Amino acid sequence: NTKITQDWLQNYVDDWVTFYQKQTKDGEVASYIPILKEADPKHLGISILGNNGLSVRSGNVDTTFTIQSISKVFCFIVACMERGVAYVLDRVDVEPTGEAFNSIMHLEMRKLKKPFNPFVNAGAITVTSMLNGKTPDEKLEPLFQLLEKILGHRPSLNLDVYESERDSSIRNRAIGYYLVELDYLESNMDITLETYFKQCSIEVSIDDLAIIGRVLANDGLDMQTDEEIIPRKIARLAKALMLTCGMYDASGKFAAYVGIPAKSGVSGGIIAVAPPRVREEVLPFTEGCGIGVYGPALDNQGNSIAGIKLLKHIATKWDLSIF
Ligand code: GLN
Repeated sequence: NTKITQDWLQNYVDDWVTFYQKQTKDGEVASYIPILKEADPKHLGISILGNNGLSVRSGNVDTTFTIQSISKVFCFIVACMERGVAYVLDRVDVEPTGEAFNSIMHLEMRKLKKPFNPFVNAGAITVTSMLNGKTPDEKLEPLFQLLEKILGHRPSLNLDVYESERDSSIRNRAIGYYLVELDYLESNMDITLETYFKQCSIEVSIDDLAIIGRVLANDGLDMQTDEEIIPRKIARLAKALMLTCGMYDASGKFAAYVGIPAKSGVSGGIIAVAPPRVREEVLPFTEGCGIGVYGPALDNQGNSIAGIKLLKHIATKWDLSIF
C-alpha cells in the first residue's frame, strides 16, 4: 500500500460517487431563478486534478452548468488585480455574516461602513461595481481573459440563464437599491447588476473548476508553465475568504468537517482547493489538488447536498484538511 494507482483511485471515487448520488434526493434544485429548475437533481459529479499528476473524474462529468456564486471569487480576484487589494478592502469587509447569501439584514442595520464580505451578494455586487470598464461586457472582459488563461479556452456565457436571472431578480435589485442608498456602488446600479448577472451565467464544467482550483492551491501559480497567473497575495486572500465565507452560512461547518477553502453556487457547483501538505503516510493528493463538484440538489443553505457529503468523505479519508 505504498503506491496509489490510477485504477485504485478511479474505483474508489466511482464507488463513493454512486453511494452519495443516492443522497441527492434529500435536497432540491434552486428554483428562484426559474431556469435552474431544469437541472436534474439526481446528478452528482466530481473532478480532481492533483499536483502529483493523478487525476480522477467520476459521476456526471459532462454536464456543464453556470458558475453562479463561484464567480464571486474570480470577480474579487480581478477587482484586486485592477484596483489593488487595499482599495478593494477599503470598500468591502472580510467578515463572515452567518446570514443567507442574499440577506439584506446587515444593509438595513446601517451600522456598517461597507458590506460584510465579497462572497455574499451585497459584497459581491459592490465588488462588481469596482471593475474597470463602462459596459458589462467591458467590465467582464478581464475576468474572461483570466479564466481563458487558466483554462486554455474562453468559457461561454449562458444567455438563457442570464435572462432568466435578470428577469426574476427581485431580491438582487432590492440589494442594489440598498447599496445605492448607502453609497457603496462605484458604477451605475443597472450596469452593475447586469454585469453581476452575466458573471453568474458563465458556463463551466467540473474539470474547469478543478483546473482553476489547482491554480489557487498553488497560490496562483500555473503548474504547467510556472507562470504566476494570480498574484500570490491575492490568491491567498481569496482562499482565506473561501474558507471563512465560501459556503454561505454553512462555512463554519464546512471548515470544521472538510477543512479546505471552497466556494459554492446555487446551480450546484463547488470549487474546492486542497493546498500541498506534508504527510508521511501515502495518501492521494497530499501534494495539493483542485476539485470541481457538481450536484444541483441543494441543502437549506443553498449548497450541493451530496457534493458536500462527498467532499467531506474524501477530505476525511485522505486527510486533506489544512488544519
Ligand atoms: N446568481 C445568484 C444570485 O445572485 C448567485 C447566488 C448563489 O450562487 N448563491 O442569486
